[in-house]
Amino acid sequence: MTASQPPTTAEELRGAGLRVTAARVALLETVRHGDHLGAEAIAAGVRHRVGHISVQAVYEALHALTAAGLVRRIEPAGSPARYEGRVGDNHHHVVCRSCGALADVDCSVGEAPCLAASDGHGFSIDEAEVVYWGTCPDCSPGRTT
Ligand SMILES: [Zn+2]
Ligand SMILES: [Zn+2]
Repeated sequence: MTASQPPTTAEELRGAGLRVTAARVALLETVRHGDHLGAEAIAAGVRHRVGHISVQAVYEALHALTAAGLVRRIEPAGSPARYEGRVGDNHHHVVCRSCGALADVDCSVGEAPCLAASDGHGFSIDEAEVVYWGTCPDCSPGRTT
């Protein structure tokens, strides 16, 4: 164990080669504290931290942070993109078809990619992305509590 402090959000942005702005720091912290937030919820969180910011500026910051690998974008078919701060571990997601609830599913063997392609076509595969679709407990019919 070292005594060094974990990097601050600003240092992480700088380390990723990004210009540090209050909006980007607030955005990264909002995404990390949230649970797979959509862009509108992220914009609300950023405004709560730094005051007014245009939706356009939120999208630009999201794009920059996603491109830098600090934020992961998840885009289940037919629903708006969601963002999370859990990056680089190749985890998957389960999505409710009815209400859009979304939860993390860990990589099944703990090492990316956790799925072996039946035919990799000679590619060197380093990532696999799976979306499990279904019905969450709250939306399951016949559920009586
Ligand atoms: Zn549901
Ligand atoms: Zn996730």
